[in-house]
Amino acid sequence: MTSASSLFGNYARSNLQFDHGNGVWLVTRDGRRFLDCGSGIAVNSLGHSHPHLVEALKAQAEKLWHVSNLHTVPGQEKLGERLAKATFADKVLMVNSGAEAMEACIKAARRYHYNNGNPDRFHVVTFEGAFHGRTIATIAAGGQAKYLEGFGPKAPGFDQVPAGDLEALAAVIGPQTAAIAIEPIQGEGGIREQGADFLRHLRKLCDDNGILLIFDEIQTGVGRTGKFFAHEWSGVNPDLMAIAKGIGGGFPMGACLATEEVAACLTPGTHGTTFGGNPLAMAVGNAVLDVVLEEGFLDSVEKKGLLLKQKLAGLVDSHPAIFAEVRGKGLLLGLKCAAPVGDLVSAAREAGLLIVPAGDNVARILPPLTITEEELDEVVNRLDAAASTLEEKTISVGGAAG
Ligand SMILES: *Cc1c(COP(=O)(O)O)cnc(C)c1O
Repeated sequence: MTSASSLFGNYARSNLQFDHGNGVWLVTRDGRRFLDCGSGIAVNSLGHSHPHLVEALKAQAEKLWHVSNLHTVPGQEKLGERLAKATFADKVLMVNSGAEAMEACIKAARRYHYNNGNPDRFHVVTFEGAFHGRTIATIAAGGQAKYLEGFGPKAPGFDQVPAGDLEALAAVIGPQTAAIAIEPIQGEGGIREQGADFLRHLRKLCDDNGILLIFDEIQTGVGRTGKFFAHEWSGVNPDLMAIAKGIGGGFPMGACLATEEVAACLTPGTHGTTFGGNPLAMAVGNAVLDVVLEEGFLDSVEKKGLLLKQKLAGLVDSHPAIFAEVRGKGLLLGLKCAAPVGDLVSAAREAGLLIVPAGDNVARILPPLTITEEELDEVVNRLDAAASTLEEKTISVGGAAG
C-alpha cells in the first residue's frame, strides 16, 4: 500500500494535527481541544507554551544559536554546574537525545575499565522489559526482539536478566562485566517500579565487584516522580546517569551525568557531538531548572501524584472490566488495563484526552508537571467517560454474539 505522505512509514501516527498548545491543553488545526496527559512522551514537563521557556528561547534565538564544542558555551557551564550541584554527579556531558545520553554512559563505562587496564571488561547487564533507545547499541541494551529484528547481529556486550532476579544476576556477573544499567521505574516497559531494595542490592553488587551502576532516568527524571530524580526515592546513587526528555521541556536535548572519577576517562578526542549543548538547548534547559528547582515545585508534583493515583485507584474499582491496577510514582503513572490498552487510548482520544500506551498492556498517564488539581479532576472525568464507552461496546458486542 502506498501512502499519500512522503514520510517514512515507521510510526503509527494518529491523524491529529495540532496547531498550538497552552499549559496542559493542545488545540488541533480545526479547533478541537485535547487534555494532554502524554506530554509528548514525558517531554513537555512544564506543559505547552510555558511563558518562562518561551521567553528564554526567544531571547537566546536573537543572540546566538550554535558555535559547536570547539568553544566554551556559557549556558553549558551553567547548566552543568546546576545539575552537578543538585545530583550525585560531579561532571556533565551535554548531548541531543536520550539514546545518545545512554550511548555516552555505555561508552564512558567501557572506557573507564579500559583506562584501568581492563579492555575486556565491556559487558553491560540490563533487565527484561528495559528500554534504552533505538541506536544499534541501545537496542542491544534494551534487548527487545521486536526492536532488534532485521538490524543485523545484536551488538556484543549486553547481557540481560529478568528484573528483580538476584540469582540470574549473580550468574551473569563476571570479570567481563563493566556496568549494570537500569531504569529505576521502567517507562516503555509499563511503569514497572524496580524497588528500593533491588536498587540497593545492585549498588552493593557493583561496589563489591568494581562494576559501575548506570541509571537511565531519561523518562523518570527532572521532577517526573516528585523528586528531582527517581533514584532519590531509594537513596541509592549511580556512577553514571542518562537524562533527556523532561530536561528540555520540548527542546531536544539530553545529558550524561557522572562522578569525577568516571568522567575523567573521556579525555579530549575520545567522544563528542556537534550539536550537543548548543546555546538554544542550554537556554531552555536552564529555564526548565529555574522552575523545577524552585522551592516547593517538587513537593507539589508529589502531592498531585498522590492525589491522581488515588483517583485512578477509584476508577480501577468502578471499571474492573477495563482497568486492573494503577502503578507508578508522582506524575509517572500507569493504568494496567484489563481490556486492550489500544482500545482505551482510542476511547480516551474520543473523550478529548491524550494518554500513551506502554508495554504490559499499560496506559501511561504523564501530564505536564504544572497541571492543576482542577485539571486532574478533568483527566479522571475523561478517563471515566472513555472506560464507560468501552464497557458499552463490550456489552453490545456480547449482546450481539449471545
Ligand atoms: C525515551 C527513552 C529513551 C530514548 O530516548 P530518545 O530521546 O528517544 O533517544 C531511553 N531510555 C528511556 C528510559 C526512555 O524513556
